Amino acid sequence: MPTRALPALDELLGQMSVVTIPLHTRFRGVTHREAVLIHGPAGWGEFAPFLEYAPDEAARWLAAAVEAAWLGWPKPVREAVPVNATVPAVAAHEVAGVVARFDGCRTAKVKVAERGQSLDDDLARVAEVRRVMGPGARVRVDANGGWSVDDALRALGALSRHGLEYAEQPCATVEELAALRIALARNGIDVAVAADESVRKAEDPLRVARLEAADLVVVKVAPLGGVRAALRVVEACGLPAVVSSALDTSVGIRAGVALAAALPSLEHACGLGTVALLEGDVAAAPLLPSGGALGIRPVEVPPDRLDALAAASRRTAWWRDRVAACHAVLASGSASIGA
Ligand SMILES: [Mg+2]
Repeated sequence: MPTRALPALDELLGQMSVVTIPLHTRFRGVTHREAVLIHGPAGWGEFAPFLEYAPDEAARWLAAAVEAAWLGWPKPVREAVPVNATVPAVAAHEVAGVVARFDGCRTAKVKVAERGQSLDDDLARVAEVRRVMGPGARVRVDANGGWSVDDALRALGALSRHGLEYAEQPCATVEELAALRIALARNGIDVAVAADESVRKAEDPLRVARLEAADLVVVKVAPLGGVRAALRVVEACGLPAVVSSALDTSVGIRAGVALAAALPSLEHACGLGTVALLEGDVAAAPLLPSGGALGIRPVEVPPDRLDALAAASRRTAWWRDRVAACHAVLASGSASIGA
């Protein structure tokens, strides 16, 4: 696989813009998404680690951005990537409006176990998604680790009557996921388990597989340090993979599309339709689902659009410091990008 040396910090800082984009619906506690876009010889890369991540962790996100902008993508093995609709923890009456933003999607991921809500709220939301999308759709739930093993057993027992494709990160730890899978089987509850938050660095999927904690893994390009790194992780862990995003602009989504397009096997719709949750985007033609899929195409970023979104950002200096801190982490590991 191609690799290259890490570009100098000045080169990165000279090619970056900070953008701020409002969200349609509050997500992961935020109402605006901030991202750094970096332009390099291969195109655009996105650096948007969540604000609380320390440099050690955020550095992998920078490696992914540099891979995108300086190396580009491995060869795709498919022409389009099926994606899912993402339904945040909204009231049931809002479901139809959310689903309508994801053109043609036949899979929905529904947030459940939201703090301050009850199992009845989850049941009402999932039932409404099933009603809106019909019996042929695939419906998965995502608890973001919000349930104990007992809670998950009770909730999935009830939610599974609507027919679930799988439950994403029902419990917080890998040990709990493993215990839940045993409990589900004992109780005759047929719901597959996917590990998402339990996969944040390269070693994690191997541990998930070894402890039999999940039936499949959710992988994201940025936390794993790039498309090529993520491909190796998926291969090593041996479980089916779903590619997801971290609420990125079209530039970040393009990296997820590159991973999904290059995976030897792809059995599930990917969580890459999330540009639909943003009120704006950096791309001239945003990577929005069409006919339930994303095409594999370049992302153009018009300079005037970039300038307008950059003007809304109030933390440019903070982001520049963050890029510098992450660059220092990568440089100290004498990292080469794509490796
Ligand atoms: Mg998730």
